[in-house]
Amino acid sequence: MSLLPGNVAVNEESRSVSVISAARVPNMLNNGDVVFGRITTVRDNSAYVDIAATEKMPDAEIVNNGNAEIYVSNVQNGFTKSVTDEFKTLDIVRARVIDNKKIDLSTVGDEFGVVKAFCTKCKNGLEKNGNYLECPLCKTREYRKLSNKYGQ
Ligand SMILES: [Zn+2]
Repeated sequence: MSLLPGNVAVNEESRSVSVISAARVPNMLNNGDVVFGRITTVRDNSAYVDIAATEKMPDAEIVNNGNAEIYVSNVQNGFTKSVTDEFKTLDIVRARVIDNKKIDLSTVGDEFGVVKAFCTKCKNGLEKNGNYLECPLCKTREYRKLSNKYGQ
């Protein structure tokens, strides 16, 4: 056995090569997993999320990654008029997997929702100010369904 950069293990006898870094262990999304992802499309009824990682295994590639979706009924407790009021494209959300076959996500609960958002006018990172977000550059105030972990 010899180790190459990137933790690639080469077995000289069998000439097999394998990656031994824990960071490269494939990860399957399971129901209940907490994930981080970027909002790619927002419509009245749902938002699409490009899942980047799970909280449990942040460096692992996700095997069953797909078109993850947050339906309007899974945004928050209570009534959501339109998902477009709660999420914007480019937002980073912390969400929970509630159906790992269809890859449905939920942001119901205080710790779920937007953890990083960008000004819709100038794309600068927004800062939390009470229940609102504010752009430090252009002073635009925006609203999101926020996670209590915003900015952490
Ligand atoms: Zn701005």
